[in-house]
Parts: sequence; C-alpha cells; structure tokens
Amino acid sequence: MSIEENLNNVEADLKERKITLVAVSKTKPVEDIQTAYNVGVRDFGENKVQEFMKKQPLLPDDIRWHLIGHLQRNKVKYIVGKVYLIHSLDSIRLLNELERRYSAKKLTANTLIQINIGREESKTGIYVDDLERLIGACEKCTSVKVKGLMAVIPKGDEESCRHYFKEMKSIFEDLKKREFKNISMDILSMGMTHDYKIAIEEGSTLVRVGEGIFGKRNYNK
Ligand SMILES: *Cc1c(COP(=O)(O)O)cnc(C)c1O
Repeated sequence: MSIEENLNNVEADLKERKITLVAVSKTKPVEDIQTAYNVGVRDFGENKVQEFMKKQPLLPDDIRWHLIGHLQRNKVKYIVGKVYLIHSLDSIRLLNELERRYSAKKLTANTLIQINIGREESKTGIYVDDLERLIGACEKCTSVKVKGLMAVIPKGDEESCRHYFKEMKSIFEDLKKREFKNISMDILSMGMTHDYKIAIEEGSTLVRVGEGIFGKRNYNK
C-alpha cells in the first residue's frame, strides 16, 4: 500500500480520541516524508541526530520533529532549538547537558522521561526506581520542561503488551496527581506499528508509527 493509504488507515484508528500520531521516518528518504507532509502530517520522528540533521534542512519549517532515539550528551549541541520534543530523557547527566545548552541560547527543551519499563539491558531509558531522583533534578532546572513519559516495551504477545502499557499508564497517572516544578503529565508516548491499537486502549496519548506508514525499513542499504 502507498504511504497515503497507510496514513488513512492509521488515522482512522486514532480518530475521535485526541491521539497524536508521530510518523517515524528513520532510514526513509526525504521524499517519503514530503509525501506524508503533503497529506497533512506535521509530526515526524527520527532516532539518530545525524540523520535528523541531514533531513531537517531539506524539509518544510513547520514540521514538528520528535527525537525518539537515545540522545548522547555530545550531540545535544546540534539539536538545540530544532526539535519539538525529545522523547528520550534518561539520565541526570543528559538533563544537565540539556539545561546547559538550552539555557545558553535562552531556549526551552521540551522532553519526555523515557522509562525502561521491561528492565531490558538492551534498551535505554531509566528504571522506575530511578524516576524520583531524575524528577528531583528536573525540578531544579530553568530551561528543561518534562511533558510526560515515553516507553518502548518488550516484544511480546498482546497480554504482555497490555501489562507493560498498564504499568506505564499507572505511573503516569500517579505522577499526574502530584505537583512538581517544570513537570506536567500531558503526553504518554507509547505504541508502535504492531501494538499501537493496544496502547491506545490502555491510555496512550501519542503513538509512534514507522513501518505501518512508510513500509518495511531496510537497514542494509
Ligand atoms: C523505530 C521506532 C518506532 C517505530 O517503530 P515501527 O515498528 O516502525 O512502528 C517507534 N519508536 C521508537 C523509539 C523507534 O525507534
């Protein structure tokens, strides 16, 4: 199916609930992004800073870029003022670098805290046990705001997916009830091509869909 047809199908699933669709364009050419843009998509997700830097200048200015991959501290300087939302705040050291670079430019970094909900060694994101400490550090910032949470859950069957989505939703709701400086729980970023429908049922507010829109990725090109 074409990118347009895929988008129609995915958007039909999101309709009537106020769910944000981020079209994950990693590894895909700018032509594909332009195609999706032309039918109205404005939120795009990339996971690598270098790839983002190559594509961003070639595409319209009103695209909202979402950085969904692990962010190394030494790459922060390249993205200041260029991304709409960083989904992968996962350490106090990264927080400090964001604070330093964004305050120097008098800008604000909007972020989500990424939680490694399945405690998988292969994945980034903080463990739930370390959440309070990171939140404490965020409260001291002037140039970083936390808008919610993000997770990439372990691969598994529907029951397993639901379990992890429910855990994320419960952490999200618990934090929402509390009052923090610099932190609001507006966005719960969870759900990808194969599980976004389940994620929505479990309370996701933003889904990140790549192959379901742009087709299979080829990493060997
Ligand atoms: C690649 C990626 C996605 C999209 O995955 P699909 O299976 O193609 O929908 C979503 N989130 C993150 C963090 C990713 O790296």
